[in-house]
Amino acid sequence: MQSIIPAKDELLFLPLGGTGEIGMNLTLYGHDGAWIAVDLGITFGGDDFPDHPVMMADPAFIAARRERLAGIILTHGHEDHIGALPYLWQKLRCPIYATPFTAALVRSKLVSTGSDDAPLVEVALGARVQVGPFSVEYVTMTHSIPEPNALLIKTSEGAVLHTGDWKLDDRPVVGRGYDHPRLVALRREPLLAMVCDSTNAVVPGHTGSEGSLFEPLLRLGEQATGRILVTAFASNIARLVTLARVAGTLGRRFGVVGQAMERMVAVARGTGYWPGDLPELLDGRHLGHLPPAEVFAVCTGSQGEANAALTRISQDMHRDLLLDPGDTVIFSSRVIPGNEGAVERIYRRLRALGIHVLTDHDAPIHVSGHPAEEDLRRLYNWVQPPLVIPVHGTPRHLAANAEIAAACHVPHTAIVENGALCRLSRGGLQRLGQIDTGRLSVRPDGRLAPVLPDVLQEMRARVH
Ligand SMILES: [Zn+2]
Ligand SMILES: [Zn+2]
Repeated sequence: MQSIIPAKDELLFLPLGGTGEIGMNLTLYGHDGAWIAVDLGITFGGDDFPDHPVMMADPAFIAARRERLAGIILTHGHEDHIGALPYLWQKLRCPIYATPFTAALVRSKLVSTGSDDAPLVEVALGARVQVGPFSVEYVTMTHSIPEPNALLIKTSEGAVLHTGDWKLDDRPVVGRGYDHPRLVALRREPLLAMVCDSTNAVVPGHTGSEGSLFEPLLRLGEQATGRILVTAFASNIARLVTLARVAGTLGRRFGVVGQAMERMVAVARGTGYWPGDLPELLDGRHLGHLPPAEVFAVCTGSQGEANAALTRISQDMHRDLLLDPGDTVIFSSRVIPGNEGAVERIYRRLRALGIHVLTDHDAPIHVSGHPAEEDLRRLYNWVQPPLVIPVHGTPRHLAANAEIAAACHVPHTAIVENGALCRLSRGGLQRLGQIDTGRLSVRPDGRLAPVLPDVLQEMRARVH
């Protein structure tokens, strides 16, 4: 097993992370003596595993044969897809491929960790690149960050559609929307498999559009008298743009609080995703000096993250912005499983300060970035793949996605685990063996250490 070299007449599939779990995505494809890695993400230990705040899939298998690794192909800029690059690139040292927005995020990460000699190849939306023996076409999707891409990975033995994270958003607020004509045309490609996002497979119906959030957010804003502070993910540029428009309509001044938000807005501006007609963006340091009824601020911290601006604001300890009784904090977000305790603590502290706390239970002010059941059906009907391999989900999500695919007359589905080395062919999926997998954890000194087997087992038992 350890000497395995992909043959000319085979296409290999090997997930090292992100299957049977949500987070730390890393998938390998092998063909004709070479490998490519799709995504290199991290995951968070959260409240359950405070000794392991940041973890990633152990890349030992591919690090040991890195001379055969032709490239790292990134689907989009979320941390569970790019977050491990600063930690792992030195072990892999191969070219990185990304579209411009993702590339801008990656560049700032690599500079901050001294890996700025990494060759970063910028790929235009919808373009095709040759990476070793693989032809990789970027197919534009919609999600909750600019430039999400599905990858059509083609070899002489057939092709795989690796969807990355996606939804079908007809009003995405920023970006050009998903490439419907190309998605429908994919059924004419020599597809062997579709490797598909399962995050919301247990959710019935369609996932809502970013464009639907302006009205309900505006209505909540109209009821507020003091300051308005909204918390959302910094990378959801569409959400920030909607919030800026709400602020402008309310006649309030718009500003972002915290470095993460500032950095993300700067990247959005630099890559053309910050529309010119938005209200002026106020420096976070000036917000605290305005009359409360003029303030509309946005900050990170919707998941109760210890270092986020909202956590410090709730402790009345933020440098730039303090809240008073009667102010309003709006969570334009949903609590990610595992973070309930941390978020609940923020709610309690804010309420103790006399602040109105509003969430998506009060109004439809959040939409997911992942496909619900009906969206999965639509894509399966467009692409008509011969085989679906659900990924990006816990076992429950993978099973639900496989069931939906089967109901859409997809002839074969296969649920695999991290480490399952598989050969894809016209005959379907054949398991060749199991590769050792594990997790690396970032220690307080910044170095990486393997997560011990008993802790790993505990982590697998606690998947939500
Ligand atoms: Zn994502
Ligand atoms: Zn993801």
